Amino acid sequence: MQRVGNRATQILQDLGPRLEGARNRLIGVHGTPCASLAASPSTQTEKCYHDEAWEKSDDNVERPATPWVRTVQSGIELLRNPKYNKGMAFSKTERDRHYLHGLLPPAYMNQDLQVLRVMSNLREYTSDLMKYNHLMALQERNERLFYRVLMEHIEELLPIVYTPTVGLVCQQYGLLFRRPRGLFISSRDRGRVMELLKNWPERRVRVIVVTDGERILGLGDLGVQGMGIPVGKLTLYTAIGGLHPSECLPVTLDVGTNNKSLLEHPFYPGLRQPRVVGEEYDELVDEFMEACKARYGSRVLVQFEDFANHNAFRLLFQYRGTHLVFNDDIQGTAAVALAGLIAALPLTGGKLSDHTFLFNGAGEAGTGIAEMLALYISKEANISIPEARRKIWMVDSKGLVVTSRMDSLQSHKIPFVQDYPAHSSLLDCVKAIRPTALVGVSGKAGSFTKEICEAMTEFSPRPIIFPLSNPTSNSECTAEQAYTWTQGKCIFASGSPFSPVEVNGQWHHPGQGNNAYIFPGFGLGCIVAGTTRIRDEMFLAAAETLASSVTDEDRLKGLVYPPLWKVRSVSAHIAKAVASKAYEHGVATNLPKPANLLEIAEKRMWTPQYRRYR
Ligand code: NAD
Repeated sequence: MQRVGNRATQILQDLGPRLEGARNRLIGVHGTPCASLAASPSTQTEKCYHDEAWEKSDDNVERPATPWVRTVQSGIELLRNPKYNKGMAFSKTERDRHYLHGLLPPAYMNQDLQVLRVMSNLREYTSDLMKYNHLMALQERNERLFYRVLMEHIEELLPIVYTPTVGLVCQQYGLLFRRPRGLFISSRDRGRVMELLKNWPERRVRVIVVTDGERILGLGDLGVQGMGIPVGKLTLYTAIGGLHPSECLPVTLDVGTNNKSLLEHPFYPGLRQPRVVGEEYDELVDEFMEACKARYGSRVLVQFEDFANHNAFRLLFQYRGTHLVFNDDIQGTAAVALAGLIAALPLTGGKLSDHTFLFNGAGEAGTGIAEMLALYISKEANISIPEARRKIWMVDSKGLVVTSRMDSLQSHKIPFVQDYPAHSSLLDCVKAIRPTALVGVSGKAGSFTKEICEAMTEFSPRPIIFPLSNPTSNSECTAEQAYTWTQGKCIFASGSPFSPVEVNGQWHHPGQGNNAYIFPGFGLGCIVAGTTRIRDEMFLAAAETLASSVTDEDRLKGLVYPPLWKVRSVSAHIAKAVASKAYEHGVATNLPKPANLLEIAEKRMWTPQYRRYR
């Protein structure tokens, strides 16, 4: 990241005066600086120099031309179409019939060999960002080869196409931008969102991942540059959940950004305005939600992703009664974390209801996990949900969530208020509450200190320590720290991946509580059942299925999640469990309920092997 940051700075310096000229063209020399927008957001559109450039963007072409293509693909067009291109894997007959001779080197190379070639190229790169770029370029050239490479090397490549590398990609999005991927809907498109959806080339969309870029991973407001997240997530819907690429639609709602450095950056590709809020924001989201349903039907799944928590909870509650929606940061995270906790039980002994949980962070992830955990405990111990919640303690940026803070707490924290004296430091909370499980979802790097980890070993012989904050730089502690400070006793899982650690001659393999274990299979399950609404029990079923896929052999290594190479088959089982719950709760529409849900889920999964062309 440092290197890319330096590169960006270097480019800017090298460009020097030329950049000033380009900047003037980009923003219009007479434009009013965007900084003034903060003072008067209502007059923004007229005053923003970015918009001036937008208005004049038609003036730069003297002689108009008509863009046109032939519809049947052959020859060079076939090679340039990522959906159909097979590179050197076109057979002799295909080359004969599709006018490809001379356009490729004469050798034939099958897909297996192409995969090997891609991987050996990829492994030459020393930077993850370069690997990401190489993979994206492959996706733009040859979609099937891209997915085959990804699926067969998911353990190695998941950190490249998704967290943590995708965080760097979003930060550098303006600089790295080559080809648009996904649909950009901005606040100036209000009133014509349907028109934009119609511009999207695919008609059979089944899953939409949408962000407004306000809280990208733990990196804050990245505005339109958050597009890397929906794109990355949908790549995993295909690679892991087996959805056809054309069924996936990544969307970014560009409502501006409050990130000053992005607003001032010459390469920032979004609207240069402060975030639109209030009615204007709500109307855009509402128009988008209605347009999705009208265009793709009531069974299109909309996944909210990386919205700031003041919108995340609100939007989820607003639309879950009328649309097929879920929020992955709240519900997907909850299911994956709960699965890790359930899978840890054979190591700790007892039930989850025997544990005391302390969450550092009470936002989307924290309260999402806590709610699902309470639901699970209530069923496991046959107690009410409020009773189950009493086993869960939460700390936010102001300290322990207790009754004396009641007046100033956000509504999602209220169910977890404990009648207890106030404590501000995490260490004090740990000493007072004596948790057996500590979950980090604060985005605050280093908050699980040596003292805290050491203290955890006093309350349990096998303390659970899950620093889930992303990306790696935000993790509450590293795997090495947790294992070393607890002398290898802790059961560890993190949000971003860590390498194995040796403590006192024993190797520990840190598990990654990656949402990718849940959402692709969950989405597939919704499609298999044709569900129209989501119920919490469907996530509970997904969590239990994921936990049950962890073997004793995995646990011996310290893992509370299955190895990633199994994730596609685990996803099929999750899909079955989710679909089955949908039928049980009366929200499935593919009737009658088939007996063989697992087989149906497996058969529905798309595979990227090449097809033979007539
Ligand atoms: P959020 O903004 O909704 O919540 C953050 C919470 O942390 C808030 O309650 C805030 O008060 C609290 N907080 C801030 N500073 C704190 C401090 N110093 N001490 C204690 N609490 C503090 O964000 P979120 O969506 O809940 O995400 C939080 C983190 O969890 C992010 O880093 C995100 O990447 C990570 N996350 C991980 C996974 C996963 O591993 N599968 C999934 C989702 C989110």
